[in-house]
Amino acid sequence: MLTQAPRGTRDVLPTDSFRWQYVEGKMRQVAAEAGFREVRTPVFEHTELFQRGVGDTTDIVQKEMYTFRDKADRSITLKPEGTAGAVRCFLESGMYADPLPCKMYYLNAPIFRYEAPQSGRLREHHQFGLECFGAKSATADAELILLAHKLLSGLGVKNLSVNINSIGCPNCRPKYHAMLKEYLGERVAGMCKTCQERFDRNPLRVLDCKEAHCQELVKDAPAMLDVLCEECAAHFEQLKACLDVSGIPYQVDKRIVRGLDYYTKTVFELITTTREGNLTVCGGGRYDNLVEELGGPSLPAVGFGMGIERVLMLLDGEGIELPQPRHVDVFVTYMGNNQIAAFSLVQQLRRAGIKADMDHCARSLKAQFKFANKTGAPLCITLGDDEVAQGIAKIRNMNTREEHTAKLEAADKCCRSLLSK
Ligand code: ATP
Ligand code: MG
Repeated sequence: MLTQAPRGTRDVLPTDSFRWQYVEGKMRQVAAEAGFREVRTPVFEHTELFQRGVGDTTDIVQKEMYTFRDKADRSITLKPEGTAGAVRCFLESGMYADPLPCKMYYLNAPIFRYEAPQSGRLREHHQFGLECFGAKSATADAELILLAHKLLSGLGVKNLSVNINSIGCPNCRPKYHAMLKEYLGERVAGMCKTCQERFDRNPLRVLDCKEAHCQELVKDAPAMLDVLCEECAAHFEQLKACLDVSGIPYQVDKRIVRGLDYYTKTVFELITTTREGNLTVCGGGRYDNLVEELGGPSLPAVGFGMGIERVLMLLDGEGIELPQPRHVDVFVTYMGNNQIAAFSLVQQLRRAGIKADMDHCARSLKAQFKFANKTGAPLCITLGDDEVAQGIAKIRNMNTREEHTAKLEAADKCCRSLLSK
């Protein structure tokens, strides 16, 4: 128990973290190129923020939140998604008074959902997300879709489909809700218990239910896209026109509704097919009412969240290898009592920006060599009594076995030039 991580959580091991760092680097780059700046918000928020923001008829709020009372009896929830916290921060800091749009991204945000753990589905996962506040035009929606696509295709992903839909706005949705209720009304008995309870208040949720019999039941349900009001229809046309000029392939999928209540108009998903079926890597959309709903001015906004574990899974699945940085350049070994001389040389090399290391386990020289080999260091220096007395360093190329002799004080320069060859 003590040596087992909680179900649905995963460690990132030192041997694997370079993959995260590489992907995170690309995420930062793509976001920065388009003028997004990083925001960091707390891991937990007041529970009410998610009840109001995400919606209390969603799976996330009804079934999946990690909610607890703190010592002062406040109800606290670990972030089940990234947008509500970003909106709260946007309002609290008064950023809406700055020139708009306000573009921000979050990276590596831990997200907690009490889900049934399985491949690609964790109880703690991490997201990269973009949010754009104050942008009404569909060019903003298209920009986000393009950035998500650019990021993933830039990482080498081939098997990727971009799916878009519109789920309307408070003008056209009531009419659709009525149509949907009529359709679902005849099928209530076949729904899962949660859907039976929520279908009256929020019939859209039934469309997003993961239960197989609910999915089967809504297969032929009417689609929001077919009954959009004029404004929503025009917005959707503008979005498609932007995507058309950008040349990325996309599909309209009338079935996308997304699992969060705050979406209006555009919703989208980037999906990939794996051996186990379809996997959504990125999901997002427009949320024109959320800022106001959470107590701010009436301000349109659009955003997406991308699961980092799923991105890594996808890269793995496609056999895409990420560049692995070397973690030791020079390993310094020593003989006899020359441990301090070795220690000092390691510091000298590090000051010169060289990744240097030495033995800290009082190993024999033979064992030090063996360890040096395991680190993959291309160069190894051995300091014995003679070298220290003469003030020299013998630098060995671990691959060719060639040996170079340098003055001890110039060892860093010599290593640097050997490393650059
Ligand atoms: P799904 O349909 O797969 O449940 P979702 O609609 O719940 O996804 P969002 O809330 O939009 O997902 O989250 C954005 C992204 O975060 C998803 O596209 C996915 O990449 C990732 N994600 C969501 N839930 C999990 C999870 N439990 N484990 C790992 N990644 C996840
Ligand atoms: Mg989900």
